[in-house]
Amino acid sequence: MADLFFVGTSSGKTSTTRNHSSILISTTNYNLLIDAGDGIPKAFLLYNIDFNSIDGVLITHLHPDHYTGLASLIVQMKMYNREKSLDLYINAELKNTVKNFLTDSYLYPDRLGFGIEYRSFSENISIDVSEEISFIARKNSHLASVSELKDNSEQSFSCSSFLLNIGSRKIFYTSDVGSEKDLSLFDDNKYDFLISEITHVDPKEIINKSENDNFIRQIIFTHYSDEDVVETKKFINNLNKDLKSWVILAVDGLKVEL
Ligand SMILES: [Zn+2]
Ligand SMILES: [Zn+2]
Repeated sequence: MADLFFVGTSSGKTSTTRNHSSILISTTNYNLLIDAGDGIPKAFLLYNIDFNSIDGVLITHLHPDHYTGLASLIVQMKMYNREKSLDLYINAELKNTVKNFLTDSYLYPDRLGFGIEYRSFSENISIDVSEEISFIARKNSHLASVSELKDNSEQSFSCSSFLLNIGSRKIFYTSDVGSEKDLSLFDDNKYDFLISEITHVDPKEIINKSENDNFIRQIIFTHYSDEDVVETKKFINNLNKDLKSWVILAVDGLKVEL
């Protein structure tokens, strides 16, 4: 048994009623959190998620709505007397930045009481998280325009999309993208679920792209601002009957059985 739990579905715009985008993958022997943005510990309390039930955290990229809650999440784990080590899945290019962020937040491994295992990944290499979970990351264009501004040659502009294998299911999780072109990143694979953000890509493009892919069981929209809710619901409502049955707008607290 495995499921996805949408801890948050908000874009980078902070909301009083919704959390920043984060998904908890629960399987029989491993719980993987995808992204730990600003406010993640409060989101955990809201949904009664045990901080120490998390075995690993996968960070898609370093925008604050996806990443800056990591240090405070680890602080909570320490306060709740965590003993088992925490796996951190992070692109190899971002590993040192994340490591420094944690040590600059005074989260020294020997003071935490538990280890942090950096499991860095590179593009196109399948990473085994557990018996039931593996993933492949591919770089998307989300940070391409930011990279043009770069004044620090050491800085990485890595943002990944993922093909996740969870049990017998395959999930394409876009994370944040640059444009609809990134929706084709895993065209050489078939997947059961497409979870796409809708802040940097038009939902219409997602539907157009997926309409002929009859192997997709469900399309899930996430990462949207409060002011997008009415329009997006209207858009889904106006889809034809067949499409409407497999497109959903994720809400905070949504659980999807795989
Ligand atoms: Zn974002
Ligand atoms: Zn982003």
